Amino acid sequence: MPRRLFFKNFRLPNVFVLLLIVLFSCALLICINFFTIKILSASRAYVNGESHYSKGQKDASRHLITYLYTKELNHWKLYIENLKIPQGDGIARKTLLKVGDNEVARIGFTAGRNHEDDLDDLVWLFVNFKEVSFFAKAIREWEQGDNLINELFIIGTQINAKIQRNTLTPANQQKFIARISNISDKLTINERNFSNTLGEGTRKIKNLLIITNIIFVLIIILSVCTYYFIMVKRLLVSKKEIEVKNEDLVLVNRELDRFVYSASHDLRSPITSLKGLIEITQLEDDVNQIKDYLDLMQQSLTKQDQFINDIIDYSKNKRKQIIIQPVSLRKLFDEAISQLTHIENASRIIIKQEILTDEIYSDGLRLKIIIGNLISNAIKYADTNKQEMFINIKTYTTEGAHKIEVADNGIGIKEEYKESIFEMYFGTNKNKGSGLGLYIVKEAVENIKGNITVVSEKTIGSKFIVTIPKTHGV
Ligand code: ADP
Repeated sequence: MPRRLFFKNFRLPNVFVLLLIVLFSCALLICINFFTIKILSASRAYVNGESHYSKGQKDASRHLITYLYTKELNHWKLYIENLKIPQGDGIARKTLLKVGDNEVARIGFTAGRNHEDDLDDLVWLFVNFKEVSFFAKAIREWEQGDNLINELFIIGTQINAKIQRNTLTPANQQKFIARISNISDKLTINERNFSNTLGEGTRKIKNLLIITNIIFVLIIILSVCTYYFIMVKRLLVSKKEIEVKNEDLVLVNRELDRFVYSASHDLRSPITSLKGLIEITQLEDDVNQIKDYLDLMQQSLTKQDQFINDIIDYSKNKRKQIIIQPVSLRKLFDEAISQLTHIENASRIIIKQEILTDEIYSDGLRLKIIIGNLISNAIKYADTNKQEMFINIKTYTTEGAHKIEVADNGIGIKEEYKESIFEMYFGTNKNKGSGLGLYIVKEAVENIKGNITVVSEKTIGSKFIVTIPKTHGV
């Protein structure tokens, strides 16, 4: 595959997709981390709250027992005060379960000695996670605890009533003590279960968070690496493209320099020789000699004319856009032959045409340049020593291409020149041409995405074969 075609067809995956993946992953990672931290912080607040709950219940039990034996009102008050802590949490739980007023729940949590800054997280976790297994289990433990707190409250009321009525017996005291310690034991189990369940849940969440973090970080690293790789590759490709373009520019510049130098030189030389011829003709009296000088002047002018025609062809070939349209090869050959009859010996050459393919879709201007130059060369380089000079023209179509062949039995091309004949200003006989013809032909053929080859043998003849693709992607 040619280098330029390779660069043209080289497609890279869309980097915007990768950027989107990175952006999406980052956004997701931020959200996941934010909510996980919120969950963990709320869980910590619940565990903290549980310790206040537990302490409140234990202190309430202690003061109730002291009140039971001392009957001091001060302990009764302390009992009531401490019992309000778990009761406050209980109010919050019931309100949130009924999807009640969040403000009431906040007041409940505040009574439960929870920190003011934790209130939002406590309410948020309850509202959003009450159905989630680990939290639902913790709520069940909490509910059982609240029932026991309620029982403790009832016992307190019974003790207080008996003390107020002065009907408390030692036997009653024993019974109450047994009930209080039974409730305390059960509550301790509940409280432990509550903390354990929350701890278990948060550990699972933490592990999940680590895994999701690793996965997303890997996705981000992978996407960034791929993005970087693609960008570096793109840079390399465009660097190569620029290098190729630079090389082309240098070549074109060099070619232009050579062209300008040779063109100015070749344009001047016939003028110089004409001036010289005119000068010596002015001094000459012999009519025959003057006729010879005039012939030489004509040759000089013909050469000049041919050279200017070549330059015009060169410029047209470079400048004009390719226009694909139906072109008659027969017409182009007929025109070329009729325009070239002035060349020396042209009338002696037998031209045979075998037009198997006439109308093709191609660029008329380029085909005219190609055919004109090939026929003109076949006439110019005819072997005048041969008895019969001929040019065989053949056009035909193979599977994928049209072919144009121009064969002659002229002087042929030496082996060592075959490589150079398509180069700019290469010519073996400066009297016969400028050396531009085949160079222009090659450029024109390449313009219509075709190619040209030559088979030639010195003294036997030459055959130029032009191949034009049927569907050429211009
Ligand atoms: P020029 O203007 O010198 O003819 P071209 O580029 O047309 O330049 O041809 C380059 C050289 O190729 C010629 O000088 C000649 O030596 C050789 N050449 C081209 N066509 C033929 C041919 N049909 N037979 C023999 N030699 C040829």
